[in-house]
Amino acid sequence: MNDTLRWNLADADDPQLSMFPDARREVGIGEYRGLEFYEVMAKTIINKVPGPPRFGFQYTVNPYRGCSHACTYCFARPTHEYLGLNAAEDFDSKIIVKINAAERLRAEIQPSKWGGALIALGTNTDPYQRAEGKYRLTRAILEVLVEHGNRFSVLTKNSLAVRDLDLFVEAARTMDIRVDFSIGTFDEDVWRLTEPGTPHPRKRMEAVARLNEAGVPSGVLMGPVIPGISDEPAQLQEVARAAVEAGAVSLGTVLLHVKPALRDHFLTWIEDERPELLPRYRRLYGSKSFVPEGMQKRVSQMVNQFAQQAGGLRRYQRHKPVAAKPSTTTAAAEQLRLIG
Ligand code: SF4
Repeated sequence: MNDTLRWNLADADDPQLSMFPDARREVGIGEYRGLEFYEVMAKTIINKVPGPPRFGFQYTVNPYRGCSHACTYCFARPTHEYLGLNAAEDFDSKIIVKINAAERLRAEIQPSKWGGALIALGTNTDPYQRAEGKYRLTRAILEVLVEHGNRFSVLTKNSLAVRDLDLFVEAARTMDIRVDFSIGTFDEDVWRLTEPGTPHPRKRMEAVARLNEAGVPSGVLMGPVIPGISDEPAQLQEVARAAVEAGAVSLGTVLLHVKPALRDHFLTWIEDERPELLPRYRRLYGSKSFVPEGMQKRVSQMVNQFAQQAGGLRRYQRHKPVAAKPSTTTAAAEQLRLIG
């Protein structure tokens, strides 16, 4: 265990974190066994995505850092190294908890200094990972957003989001909000292998149905689709059909991307788990982060066809109509490109 977190570097990397040589460390017990929490006070909580707004949002809030969902492909992993922690098991189990997240948000979205832009949750860590059961920071953030009538989007892999249905329903009455679930596959072996800390993907799809039934627009992001592992037509069709049955308002498809900082970690994992795929992965990701555009397009088209064959996605009425047609390339799809 590395008790000497390099908060000075954390501060340089992430201006939201103060220097906390005395960050409070809490060892998880009971349902949180195996986790360690580092409770810190954030200096600021709204993060501006650098560059022009390419992802459907420009502002994000992340109450945690690290993620117990432990997805092997998560591109946020290397961010833990700035804290003197490792990008492997430390990322999965040593979670930074910004305990003053809601308090900071309330201060930062005062009308005198905030224009009301959409805030995205789920861009660099999952807002409903296990820590949320204990700290309820995401719920507190949503309460502030709802109270201020500030639009938001959520992307998660955890059905725990249903806990906050009351807030989503209240928000959806007056605002265009989205609560989307990332569901890459129903294949049990692939799920266990690639997303070992997440709830079962069918539980997530049940959550999509539940939210839509309650009037909260909820879509599915089929991603990441992992070449040679979860891109068989039958695998894609199963999720597309279930998304239609769940009343999903969108269905995005994103093939795996592997950012340079994650490349070694991921290729080592492929070599250990699926060595026969290593030459293909070296070709696909050896010098690039994304698969060729044509490959992404083919898979997206296939998924769209499957959705059409299953009856098509549900249309929903926006508060401020911008596009009546259900989108297959959603803000959530772009969100996944950020979080991996
Ligand atoms: S991909 Fe998302 S859910 Fe998975 S570990 Fe990363 S942040 Fe968590």
